Amino acid sequence: MENRAKKPLELYIHIPFCVKKCDYCDFLSGPAGKERQMEYFRALQREISAVSDFSDREITTVFIGGGTPSVPDPALVGAVLDQIRNKFFMAPDAEITIEANPGTLYKEKLQEYLAHGINRLSLGLQSPQNRELKLLGRIHTWEDFLESFSLAREAGFSNINIDLMSAIPEQTYEGWIHNLRTVAELSPEHISAYSLIVEEGTPFWEKDLKLPDEDTEYRMYEDTAAVLGEFGFHQYEISNYAKKDLECRHNKGYWQRTDYLGLGLGASSLLDHVRFSNTDRMEDYIRNSAFPEKIRCNLETLGEADEMAEFMFLGLRMAEGVSFQAFEEYFGKNMESIYGDVLKKHLSIGMLEKKDGKVFLTRKGIHVSNGVMADFLL
Ligand code: SF4
Repeated sequence: MENRAKKPLELYIHIPFCVKKCDYCDFLSGPAGKERQMEYFRALQREISAVSDFSDREITTVFIGGGTPSVPDPALVGAVLDQIRNKFFMAPDAEITIEANPGTLYKEKLQEYLAHGINRLSLGLQSPQNRELKLLGRIHTWEDFLESFSLAREAGFSNINIDLMSAIPEQTYEGWIHNLRTVAELSPEHISAYSLIVEEGTPFWEKDLKLPDEDTEYRMYEDTAAVLGEFGFHQYEISNYAKKDLECRHNKGYWQRTDYLGLGLGASSLLDHVRFSNTDRMEDYIRNSAFPEKIRCNLETLGEADEMAEFMFLGLRMAEGVSFQAFEEYFGKNMESIYGDVLKKHLSIGMLEKKDGKVFLTRKGIHVSNGVMADFLL
């Protein structure tokens, strides 16, 4: 079949295991023994066997996330990737990312990832300061990270993301800027910089934390782009910064509403205008993964109004903004005929700006982005 005719499809694979739970984390993840991990991978392979082969689609990106996908034996990850290549049509230049934590990587593991076509590594560092890492309940030190980073470079990874966290308890503005510079100096290809959100149900929720005040947090965020800019990174999304042409293709696809299939516990999908997610109950997942219809929950068929809202608020997360032409091509309707009043309001108060056929958030707008985006819900 002519490849060009194939529609893109992204894959997300969830690996819910971690060495230990971090004190701020509310992701679907936790520690588990080897037996449990193997049982999970068998279930994952049953799910992959059972889902449609999407013969009219081309897999453009695969993102193995978690949890900490670098915890299980790399042969298990490799077997899943082999199965995916056999089942689906994988684009020759597909971006294949794995998330990994410092302290869980060694040379042979990295080599096995590369041998299975993984070409992007996302390292969860969070902070280069051991005091902050300890406070967050992370398993690794800055020195562990440095070792993992240089092992990855030596193995041949030329596309590495580093996750950093701002607004950590007791963090100062100067401390954050120092963290940014320390990490940028290592010259990774990509940096994701998120601020800590204290979630209910986590140990952090129960603690009396000395969090930076709103004004400090504002300045931390505001100056991140400028500091990383000095090192050759450009901001392409609210929390993401990349060297030239090295944005994360998987995440861009998500913000541009490319269809994606989520595999594994709790994984979400968007397929042919339907959103759904797999069960987040491990026992149910393991028992029923060979029957995808039994593990899929929260099915929601998106109407035109939902899709328009998503098109706007996901698109506005990106610095390049939303194209008027792309909107019209997708919906057959002019963006101004639908959102004329909302656009007018936010353009007039300086939250949005229009340029070269696109509308995007201004710096001022980024700080109140949730409020601006909410106005696009029809
Ligand atoms: S390593 Fe990541 S997924 Fe695992 S507990 Fe920590 S923050 Fe959560």
